[in-house]
Amino acid sequence: MCICVNCDLLTVCSVYQTIENLHCVSSANAKNSIFEPRKSQIAININSSSGNIKHEWDVIFCDSFVLNINTYSEQ
Ligand code: SF4
Repeated sequence: MCICVNCDLLTVCSVYQTIENLHCVSSANAKNSIFEPRKSQIAININSSSGNIKHEWDVIFCDSFVLNINTYSEQ
């Protein structure tokens, strides 16, 4: 699971915006992505079952992470 969903900086973070774009999720917050996090690490999972290739991008570590368990639901 991407740790960004519990990060207070989600709405302003450029890395999170990039991950949303990779998931083809449009976001009303794109214009606010002005924060550059420190040392974020992204895990990429590739699933090629059922004849389809699917990619999953998850931030698994980030020095800039700020805990807010309500961030995603508040969007
Ligand atoms: S955990 Fe890091 S990469 Fe994810 S939203 Fe927060 S600051 Fe951005």
